[in-house]
Amino acid sequence: MIATAQQTAAAPDLVGMLPEEAEAALREHFAARGQPGYRVGQVLRWVYERGAFGFGDMTNLPQGERAALAEAFSFTAPEPAKVSRSVDGTAKHLWRLADGELIESVLIPTPTRLTLCISSQAGCAMACTFCATGWAGYRRQLSAGEIVAQFRGARKWAQENGYNDVTNIVFMGMGEPLMNPKAVFPTLAILNRGYRFGARRVTISTVGVVPGILRMAEMPEQFRLAVSLHAPNHELRQKLIPLEKKFPLPELLEALRRFDQAGGKRITFEYVMIDGVTDAPELADELAGVIREFNAFVNLIPFNPIPGTEWKPSRRARLDYFVERLERQGISAHVRESRGSDIAAACGQLRAEVTEGRKPVQIGSL
Ligand code: SAH
Repeated sequence: MIATAQQTAAAPDLVGMLPEEAEAALREHFAARGQPGYRVGQVLRWVYERGAFGFGDMTNLPQGERAALAEAFSFTAPEPAKVSRSVDGTAKHLWRLADGELIESVLIPTPTRLTLCISSQAGCAMACTFCATGWAGYRRQLSAGEIVAQFRGARKWAQENGYNDVTNIVFMGMGEPLMNPKAVFPTLAILNRGYRFGARRVTISTVGVVPGILRMAEMPEQFRLAVSLHAPNHELRQKLIPLEKKFPLPELLEALRRFDQAGGKRITFEYVMIDGVTDAPELADELAGVIREFNAFVNLIPFNPIPGTEWKPSRRARLDYFVERLERQGISAHVRESRGSDIAAACGQLRAEVTEGRKPVQIGSL
């Protein structure tokens, strides 16, 4: 009995394995049981195409084989703790992980797309001053299986609730994806090679983790990169983003040059528009100067109010003028309309809030 329990705890997670690892492990598993080789393909189809949520769902396998799989492997499927739906169609899932940690993912429909925003960490250690996830503190890294499971769970919910297929995945939920390379890079491979999700439809958003950007530059696949720049100079940026002290702007820009030179991958710069803090017209000029060398465009994100700060979003006229100043200098810019703010699903608002059973984390004054 004890041996079985230990074996289960250590059992590799089929959802978090690279497709080729999963295939090899299944091949070995079925060979050892004297089962035909086609069982491997049956299971892989259940995982990547047929959206099974556990071995019990794999109904074309004999009962005994399903049970043997459940002994040998685990299968991450977080429990949906809560689903909130915005008036604009945005849907937020709160997922409870096996150890009780909570994370969120957000489905954002538009007429032509369904974008899924996923979390890479429970909480976030970056402590950006304008972000609710940062204020709530860091809990732990997610495993690849836990990241992929958000996609599997949200996609199923979308299918059952009259939404289209997920067309885009953005790592813009809780956490800093490039601070969790051990899980995030395998996740990219799993989405791309397992679920056949095109690399260009997957975006990693980073606050500027230089080693991770350099690693992305070397990847042959064209995963997209978004950089949360938010300020065009070191002084202002370090007031908003503590990581600026570790990877100052010149170093970040150098890494982005390497990414840009790798070719074919357009960089998105994200820039939060906070009234009186980041929205001065001169900052638009400075920003244009800094990013002009890149094949890039700017996503301006009107600040979404969060508890604990007095900051307000930029007024519409300031926002429009900022866009105009950028465009006058040949930089394409776009205002990202806030989606799902009525259910605290907009950029920077995710903090896995539930009423029961969880103490808030203090991260000290900023
Ligand atoms: N850690 C990654 C992923 C978070 S993505 C990153 O920093 O890029 C979420 C995006 O929303 C980031 O660009 C983030 O800076 C931005 N954001 C955070 N708080 C916000 C707020 N209150 N209003 C608007 N945008 C915010």
